[in-house]
Amino acid sequence: MELLTILNHCHHFRGFVYQRSRLDRDRNTLEVVVRPRQGSAAICSGCHRPAPGYDHLPQRRFEFIPFWGILVFLLYSMRRVNCPNCGVVAEEVPWGDGKHQLTKAYMLFLGRWARKLSWQETAEAFHTSWDKVRDAVEYMVNWGLDHRSLAPIRAIGVDEIQYAKGHQYLTLVYQIDQGLIRLLWVGRERTIESFQAFFTLIGTELASGIEFVCSDMWEPYLKVIREKCSQALHILDRFHIVAKMNKALDEVRAAESRRMAQAGFEPVLKKTRWCLLKRKENLTGKQKFRLRDLLRYNLKTVRAYLLKEDFQQLWDYDTPAWAGKFLDEWCRQTMRSRIEPMKKIARTLRQHRHLILNYFCAQKQFSSGVIEGLNNKAKVTMRKSYGFRTFGVLELALYHSLGKLPEPELTHEFF
Ligand SMILES: [Zn+2]
Repeated sequence: MELLTILNHCHHFRGFVYQRSRLDRDRNTLEVVVRPRQGSAAICSGCHRPAPGYDHLPQRRFEFIPFWGILVFLLYSMRRVNCPNCGVVAEEVPWGDGKHQLTKAYMLFLGRWARKLSWQETAEAFHTSWDKVRDAVEYMVNWGLDHRSLAPIRAIGVDEIQYAKGHQYLTLVYQIDQGLIRLLWVGRERTIESFQAFFTLIGTELASGIEFVCSDMWEPYLKVIREKCSQALHILDRFHIVAKMNKALDEVRAAESRRMAQAGFEPVLKKTRWCLLKRKENLTGKQKFRLRDLLRYNLKTVRAYLLKEDFQQLWDYDTPAWAGKFLDEWCRQTMRSRIEPMKKIARTLRQHRHLILNYFCAQKQFSSGVIEGLNNKAKVTMRKSYGFRTFGVLELALYHSLGKLPEPELTHEFF
């Protein structure tokens, strides 16, 4: 069977003809020349309508999906049209997109792999460059963002994530409706302005339809939610409260461990970090043993740990009233503990009591795992684009893997 027959079968476009192919044995490259079908008019890339021809541009190479270890290129001389609306512009070709060097089919192919592998691994697997993989992902993400529908949004969660060295943050907004969980928006920094930009994107009508908002205790977020989403039930996310508590406990342990070392005591706190921070059910046998041993000592760390463990009961309550009673009692006890980082937590919790209890008003509809799961996935995604931690690249990678964006359709599945 002829190569051109196969191409016509899987990658055929009206108005264009595959003319001939040539194998370059030295460079392991297959070049296929494409020409316009006789009498078919070029399409203007500005207004997408047929327009009279003007002249030809030099031949361009469009990279197609490689096979059998051979790189494949489509060669085509773009026509320029003299469009009554747009003036003299290049034509639009159905297999390519703007200035992208790769064909749409190849960009979709690479882009899909780049969701499964890291970008670098994808580039290596198909003998191409990291930049081309980035290009492919960019094409898919831009197409997806242009074609996604945002409405309706019932519940959102806002989260921050640290990237690069130093204190650089991204603000991520997720849709957390039952049945549709996806990343809606990525913003620079974690300021009032960054979160406000999300509401500018969705507009007031969509914003006014939001019924639930989950967030952490970051004041700029709280402020924007009060402003833009006052009708929604605002819930402080369980995952973030637990994370804050763990951070406080870790501070207590580190400080006490230092103090004990300076005073020449036995280093009982050494290697206990994960015993204290991990959930009990996730501890290894050795860690369980270590924890049991540690709990015999009368240490600040142990008391802080017991407070933290005790706090977990909060999530078992079914009504805001009972949860509130428990929370007040826990804060009262903690305020008497003389452990400053824990007292600080208690003060913060008191201050946000109302928002914490909203979790129970929402009938726990939003499992605490949702934001935590998304946060973990976002971190994995960032690791996969490791080494290229600019905002632009991370934004692409995050939309690509978490945005559930629609994809352009091809008439043939290239796998
Ligand atoms: Zn035009």
